[in-house]
Order: sequence, then structure tokens, then C-alpha cells
Amino acid sequence: MITLFFAAGDDNWNQYEGPLILALEKAKISATILTKSPANPETVDYIIYAPVAGALTDFTPYRNVRAVLSLWAGVEKLAPNKTLRQPLCRMVDPGLTEGMVEYVVGHVLRQHLGIDRYIINPNHDWVQKCPPLARERSVGIMGLGTLGTAVTTALRALNFNLSAWGRSPKPDLEMPYFHGADGLEALLSRSEILVTLLPDTPDTRGLLNAQTIAYLPYGAALINPGRGTVIDDVALLAALDQGALSHATLDVFHQEPLPKTHRFWQHPKVTVTPHIAADTRPLTSSRVVVENIRRDQAGLALLHQVDLARGY
Ligand code: NAP
Repeated sequence: MITLFFAAGDDNWNQYEGPLILALEKAKISATILTKSPANPETVDYIIYAPVAGALTDFTPYRNVRAVLSLWAGVEKLAPNKTLRQPLCRMVDPGLTEGMVEYVVGHVLRQHLGIDRYIINPNHDWVQKCPPLARERSVGIMGLGTLGTAVTTALRALNFNLSAWGRSPKPDLEMPYFHGADGLEALLSRSEILVTLLPDTPDTRGLLNAQTIAYLPYGAALINPGRGTVIDDVALLAALDQGALSHATLDVFHQEPLPKTHRFWQHPKVTVTPHIAADTRPLTSSRVVVENIRRDQAGLALLHQVDLARGY
């Protein structure tokens, strides 16, 4: 019998109780699940975690925990926690990935087809300007991890002219791929639509600033469902005001909820979505959590382990 501490809040517990118990039963794992801080933290084997209000911040007493299993894909709130000495696994949930693919494809098509022009047409203008084909539209993806890769697969199926950028080299890709600081200008300068799917780490903060935004083609559109800290907001607003960028669709922000007075809310060239691009789905993510517990109990390596030094 193992002991799990569900440290992800009551609201999450209401959604996860059924799927988690079902997944444990299917994996034939007997577990006691605690939903409140235990009197004796040393009895806990695994912590299932989400950074909700009042979330656990001191992992020191959980001496016997074998892994902290995050329900979130982004772990920027956990990775820098110096009390965390246990392995940390982030969420790679097929349901979440599917949601992100749908969000990105929808917003890329909106920009590519110029859909807004026909939705907001107060003067009933009859301007017959057919959009180019997807094969003639360049889309750049910053961050070719789990989500970036799934997104490129979907956009490739629509024939978009794709390129990508990441931290490490990736040979043998079916598209132009650039990496590291030296490769960023090459990616940006060919991206009429830029999708950012980067984690929040010390190295990604402020990557899109006045200098790098200027590398984008004039009138490019930006879609950011990764993390808000990647963008210098002041530089982005300046680029939109000057017409250098035509639109920004933003799902994530430096501060969330986005303050009601923030210029993004009023800006005619900004679409704000409230961090809804892709949610972790209890049914599929419970299976991921339980699979990691099963693997660990069987002496196998944990999946999706975070490199705490890198922060993702
Ligand atoms: P992932 O698999 O860890 O991929 C991260 C990608 O970013 C990798 O390709 C990595 O490059 C690249 N990267 C990291 N640091 C970099 C740097 N300094 N320079 C260049 N590239 C860098 O993560 P994921 O599952 O795709 O998720 C990406 C992010 O999406 C998450 O961290 C989370 O913040 C965000 N997210 C948002 C939502 C939402 O609803 N808005 C939902 C889920 C996730 P390498 O491949 O070279 O390592």
C-alpha cells in the first residue's frame, strides 16, 4: 500500500477523485490518498501537485517522497523551489496536447485567412482579396517540445510552410530548424505567423523584446500560448502601435489574471484569452500520473522528469 498526497486543492480533487481512483484500480495499485497536509509527512510516497492558492511550498518534511508529480505542464513555480530535492515530473497529457493543437490551429487559421476582416466590416466593404494558400504562408514555432511538435504535425497536414526553433540541435527534421541564440534571427525573420510554445525559465524570459521582435517580417502576427514572461510587453505594444506587428493573440501573461487596466485588454490588435489554450484533462492526466507511479514502483525510470537546473 502506498500513500499519495493530492496537493492540488479541493476544486481539482472534485474533478480528479474519480479518474485517479479508476486509473489506480486499472494499474492494480493500492493507495491511500490524502487530500489535506498529513500529520506525518514522512508517510507520503508521492505528491500530486498543482500550484493552486495556498499550495504546498516546503517539501522538506516529505523525506520519503519518491517523486512530485505535477498536474501542470509548466513547472516554473516548482522548479526553483530549493526545498524540492525529490524528482519532479511535469505533466505530458495527451488531452492537454490535443487542446493545444486545436487552439493553435484555430488561431493560426484566423490570422492566415484574415477572418476578422469579414467579421468586423461595418462599412460592408466588398474587397475581393483572396488569402494565399497555406503552403505560401510561413509559420514559425518557438519551442519544439511536446506541444510544439504536436502543433507542427497538425500545421504540416494543412501544408503551412513551417520552421522551428529550440535550445538544442535536432538533426533530421522535415523542416528548417534553428537553435540557440544564434539561430533566433533566422527563425523570426521567416515567420509571418509566430507561435511561441516555450517554458518560463531564466533563459526564455524577455526573449521577444524590441530587438528580436524587429527581426519578424513587417505585419507579422504573434500567437503566444506558452508563457507570458517570454515577451517584453512594452516592446510588443510598441510594435503593434507602429504596425510592425499586425496582431497578437495572448493566452499567458506576466501577471495572471491579467490586470483589468492592462493595455492588452483595450488594444484593437490584441486578442486576450484567459490562460485557456489547453487544460490538463483529469481522465487522461490521471493515467499519466498513475503510469509514473507504476513505473517507479516497478523500478523503471520516471517519465517527463524535469531538469531542475534548466527549469523545464
Ligand atoms: P517541453 O516539451 O518541455 O518543450 C519545451 C521546448 O522549449 C523545447 O523544445 C525546448 O528546447 C524549448 N526551450 C526551452 N528553453 C529554451 C531556450 N532557452 N531557448 C530555446 N528553446 C528553449 O514543453 P511543452 O510540453 O511543449 O510545453 C511548453 C510550454 O507550454 C510549457 O512549459 C507551458 O509553460 C506552456 N503551456 C501552456 C498551456 C496553456 O494553456 N497556455 C498549457 C500547457 C503548457 P529543446 O527541445 O532543445 O529542449
